[in-house]
Amino acid sequence: MPITPSKLIWMDGELVPWDEARVHVLTHTLHYGCGVFEGIRAYETSQGPGVFRLTDHMVRLANSAKIFMIDVPYAVEELVQAVKDTVAANELPSCYIRPLVYLGYGEMGLNPLPCPVQVSVAVWPWGAYLGDEGVANGVRMKISSWQRHDPNAMPPAAKGTGMYINSSMAKVEALKAGYDEAILLSPQGYVSECTGENIFVVKGGRVITPPVSAGALEGITQSSVMAIARDEGFEAEVGNLLRSDLYTADEAFLTGTAAEVVPIRSVDDRVVGKGEPGPITRRIQEIYFAAVRGQVDRYKDWVEHVR
Ligand code: PMP
Repeated sequence: MPITPSKLIWMDGELVPWDEARVHVLTHTLHYGCGVFEGIRAYETSQGPGVFRLTDHMVRLANSAKIFMIDVPYAVEELVQAVKDTVAANELPSCYIRPLVYLGYGEMGLNPLPCPVQVSVAVWPWGAYLGDEGVANGVRMKISSWQRHDPNAMPPAAKGTGMYINSSMAKVEALKAGYDEAILLSPQGYVSECTGENIFVVKGGRVITPPVSAGALEGITQSSVMAIARDEGFEAEVGNLLRSDLYTADEAFLTGTAAEVVPIRSVDDRVVGKGEPGPITRRIQEIYFAAVRGQVDRYKDWVEHVR
């Protein structure tokens, strides 16, 4: 989806004009993919832009960095403030937010430790990642021939830039084959997640999503949806799923900050349920879309206001 430029990007403590937010070609992360990032959304609320679970995203960013031994020169609170300042400075009612921690121009070679650790925060207006049609009527999924990382090859708990080569290959494969999105399995054959989203199935009224041990990122939308599902009285659990569980599910959907909550219409050409968004998916979607806009009292703390 094309980027609509905003005005200012936060780079190492300063807001710089969009077109001047540049890096050197010998930026370490550009070569070896050792960086960490987040994807966050700010929604329009009655009190101005509200960032959904901002602190939780920044804690995950700090943990991702810790896993890769990247020493972020800012505390979580400072990163939270940097995001708020960037959203406010760009005067957008709602936006997608992309904080990035990367290793800059310093030394070359596989040891990243001598390189300067740099941080940027960019924001821009962004619509539904898998399209409005996907949100409304569901998407067609294909199980990828690419596997999710083995946890001892790449740590699934980290949102590392280089790890996304795996996702990009799966995404391209699915799109070229005429599907909307890919589902990756773990090396052990369990369902892991999608290229940039967690996956859920609904079976016999139970809502199930795969664990980190199957290679899935611990999604913030995933944990929000688990809370919503439980609060709605559904049994919601983290558990291993086989690909056949996807084919025979009553309902299935995917979750992510960019994608939000998107029903799954089919997997490998097997229609899921009735081939349309099921009632539990619809209910969860409805509550999620209200919660992110600060319209559900119970989840008001999830929205962190910029001003
Ligand atoms: N899995 C992967 C691989 C992702 O990139 C994302 C997006 N960050 C997710 C799951 C969903 O995570 P979240 O709900 O925190 O955006």
